[in-house]
Amino acid sequence: MTSSARPLLNRRLAEFGTTIFAEMSALAAATGAINLGQGFPDTDGPEEIREAAVRALREGRGNQYPPGPGVPELRTAVAAHQLRRYGLSYDPDTEVLVTAGATEAIAAALLALVEPGDEVIALEPYYDSYAACIAMAGGRRVPVTLRPHAGAFRLDLDELRAAVTDRTRLLLLNTPHNPTGTVLTREELTAIAALAVERDLLVVTDEVYEHLVFDDAEHIPLATLPGMRERTVTIGSAGKTFSFTGWKVGWITASPALVTAVRSAKQFLTYVASGPFQYAVAEALALPESHFAAFRKDMRARREVLAAGLAQAGFGVFKPAGTYFVTTDIRPLGETDGFAFCRALPERAGVVAIPNAVFYDHRAEGAPYVRFAFCKRKGVLDEAVARLKRLAV
Ligand code: PMP
Ligand code: GLN
Repeated sequence: MTSSARPLLNRRLAEFGTTIFAEMSALAAATGAINLGQGFPDTDGPEEIREAAVRALREGRGNQYPPGPGVPELRTAVAAHQLRRYGLSYDPDTEVLVTAGATEAIAAALLALVEPGDEVIALEPYYDSYAACIAMAGGRRVPVTLRPHAGAFRLDLDELRAAVTDRTRLLLLNTPHNPTGTVLTREELTAIAALAVERDLLVVTDEVYEHLVFDDAEHIPLATLPGMRERTVTIGSAGKTFSFTGWKVGWITASPALVTAVRSAKQFLTYVASGPFQYAVAEALALPESHFAAFRKDMRARREVLAAGLAQAGFGVFKPAGTYFVTTDIRPLGETDGFAFCRALPERAGVVAIPNAVFYDHRAEGAPYVRFAFCKRKGVLDEAVARLKRLAV
């Protein structure tokens, strides 16, 4: 301890405290409640990919520092994935950078691209690390709020346009969107792209849920739209796509100049991470389309179970077009404060969820919304739903 009266934690981080995911997972562990809070699957990803990691470890691939930009096998696999799925061509040597999960990609991108005082526009509710990383970069976050409209949280393009000022440096997008499950449409993305070109903005787009889109929703990478490839940093992650969230393998694809800038920050964060897992993820990205289709189908079935169960339990349900989260409205249950509701939920119903208010600057806007994750085994979802139905009686 220091004897000075000055707080230990600097001003940039003082407002953030402990992440809601750590808090709520600790609450689940302490109470034995079913954890539908933090978004991690309760079954691991494909066995052959796990075996690929074991093989890499045994063969001594990646047990020492991998190359700074990531192992060539993974960079090549990321580039091939972007080309095959989206027709986006990236040079594995100059336009792909492997990171310690999407989390490091977000941090490095913001630390590299934002000057102190720059404004960064983020869609609110926003994933919690966005606000902290903007703050660490000395930027000013400017939230643009997604609001409920016809059963989904939608972006108001006029509000977005009005949020851009002469100080705006960067748009921080996320589609499919956590926590609302919204997938931005081609029309919305086209308007965003036009705005970015017109106002000369950089865009960092977090597409970690790119493979989790349902029904007729389509994931459209912003970088595919006119004028965007050269100004967009696209972020992906193996955690969500292959159900290995502990491996922390993420990546960015962008122009050589943007990759070089982001790498300048990334090299002083972790330098490198996850050596043997990088080889395994390279194999995962090359899995046939049938794998991704089966993954989507499986998650869609779980979405049905949880969304229907939550509706029967009396929640207002926003059925997500993407991600593995369902945002609910607790007002039909006679509740208004998502924080208080989530803190009491383990005791009341033996379930843990996340109050969406933590993802808002305008906390009052997010107060009545609560997020549940459905990346859990069906039996676990059934039990959670049975418990939540007791709330209504
Ligand atoms: N962005 C979003 C929108 C997320 O939900 C998450 C959590 N997976 C991350 C980034 C962080 O991803 P990773 O675990 O790869 O660091
Ligand atoms: N992305 C996960 C979620 O939204 C949490 C990751 C984390 O714990 N930082 O639930």
